[in-house]
Amino acid sequence: AVPRTPAAARTYELDRRHVFHSWSAQERISPMVITRAEGSWVWDDYDHPLLDFSSQLVFTNLGHQHPRVVAAIQQQAATLCTVAPQHANAARAEAARLILSHLPDTFEKIFFTNGGADAVEHAIRMARLHTGRIKVLSAYRSYHGGTDLAINVTGDPRRWENDHGAAGVVHFFGPFLYRSPFHATDEAQECERALAHLEQVIALEGPGTIAAVVLESIPGTAGVMVPPAGYLRGVRELCDRNGLVMIADEVMAGFGRAGRWFAFELDDVRPDLVTFAKGVTSGYVPLGGVAITGPVLRTFDDRAYPGGLTYSGHPLACAAAVATVRAMEDEGTVAAADRLGRDVLGPGLRDLAARHPVIGDVRGVGAFWALDLVEDRASRTPIAPTGGTSERMGRITAACRVEGLLPFVSSNRIHVVPPLNISDGDARAGLAMLDRALGAAEG
Ligand code: PLP
Repeated sequence: AVPRTPAAARTYELDRRHVFHSWSAQERISPMVITRAEGSWVWDDYDHPLLDFSSQLVFTNLGHQHPRVVAAIQQQAATLCTVAPQHANAARAEAARLILSHLPDTFEKIFFTNGGADAVEHAIRMARLHTGRIKVLSAYRSYHGGTDLAINVTGDPRRWENDHGAAGVVHFFGPFLYRSPFHATDEAQECERALAHLEQVIALEGPGTIAAVVLESIPGTAGVMVPPAGYLRGVRELCDRNGLVMIADEVMAGFGRAGRWFAFELDDVRPDLVTFAKGVTSGYVPLGGVAITGPVLRTFDDRAYPGGLTYSGHPLACAAAVATVRAMEDEGTVAAADRLGRDVLGPGLRDLAARHPVIGDVRGVGAFWALDLVEDRASRTPIAPTGGTSERMGRITAACRVEGLLPFVSSNRIHVVPPLNISDGDARAGLAMLDRALGAAEG
C-alpha cells in the first residue's frame, strides 16, 4: 500500500485519537483525510485527486474554493468578524434581501440559524405558535436534521434510536413510484393516492390539532424522489383547507441543486415557511435559515418570538451567503444545473442503467440524482438495507474510490450530486469512472 503523506498521516493519527465522528461507531471508521480542494476536485491522504460527485454532504454547490466567496469571507473577516444578533449588520441585511429576492414575494423576512436542523426546529416552533396547535406531520422517507425535534420529524432510520419524547410528530407516506406504498402503476395514480392518504391522516389525527406539514420539496438523503407533478400543489391545498402551515424543507434541494433556486418552483407552489442551509453559502461557513411569509410574521408583530441563537446571522456566514448568491446570479449557476441534468447527467446515468443490471432506477433533476441499486430488476430488492450497507455496496463504493470518484453513498444508492458548476468534461469523466467502477465491482 502507498503510505499517506507525512502531514496526512499526522492528521489521521490525531483525528483517530481525539475526534468523535457523527453517526459512527468510533472504532469502526477510517476517515479519509482531505488535504486540499479546488473546484470539483479534492485531494486525499495519498495526494490522489478525487472527483467530488458528493459535493461533500451536498453543499459545495459552487465547488471548492470559489474565489469570490473566499474573498468575501476574507474581506468580512478584515472588516467585522462578528456582532451579536440584536444589532443590525450590513452583511446580514444584504443576505436576507438577496435570499428573499429569489423567493416568491409572499416571503418577507429571514430568521437566520446555524444550519438546517435548527432551521427546521424554528420553522416548527413558529408554526406551533402561529396556529396554537402541537402536532406536526412529516414523511417517512425524509431527513430533517440531527437535533431532538428535527430527528423526530425525520423519517429515515437515524430517527429510531432518538425517537423519544417528541410530542405530536406523526409520519405519513410521500409519493415514491419505484417502491410505491400505494401499489400505484403510474405517476398520476401515485400522486392521487399519496394525497388521498395524507388527507386521511389529517382527518384521523384531527385537523384542529395539527400545526404543520413539513416536507422536503424533493426528499434528498432518502433517495432523491422528485414528487409527481401536482403533489406539492395538492399538499398546499390540504394545508389551506385545514389551516395547516406548509413548511418546505429546502436545505438540500434549494439554492440551485434541482435546477431551480428552490425545488418547490418545479410544482409552482408557495409554501408558508421555507427552511434552507447548505448551498446558501456553498457550505463555506455554516448558515441556515427560515424564510417567513406574512401571516406567520404577523403573529410576532407584537408578541416576542420565544427563540434565538447567539450566532443568528453571523457576519462571516452572511458575507459568504451574499457572495454565493451573487456569484450564482452572475454565473448563471441555476440554469447551468438545470442544463447539466438534461444534457449530461440524466442521459449519462440512463445510459449506465442500460448496461448495468444492478441499476434498478435512475431518478433526479438538475444536479440532484440517485441510482437505486437492486439485486434484480424484477424483485427490486435493494442491494443494501435501508440505513445499512452490504458487502456488494461496499465493493462498488471501494471501486469508485480506486477510479478516483467520490460519490455520496446512502443505503443501496449512489447519489450523483456534483457541484452545480462542474464542467461537462468533468461530469462525463465522473460518469465514465462510475461505469468502470460498476464494471469492476460487478465483475
Ligand atoms: N433538512 C434536510 C433536507 C437535510 O438534507 C439536512 C441535512 O442533510 C438537514 C435538514 C439538516 O441540516 P444540518 O445538518 O445543517 O443541521
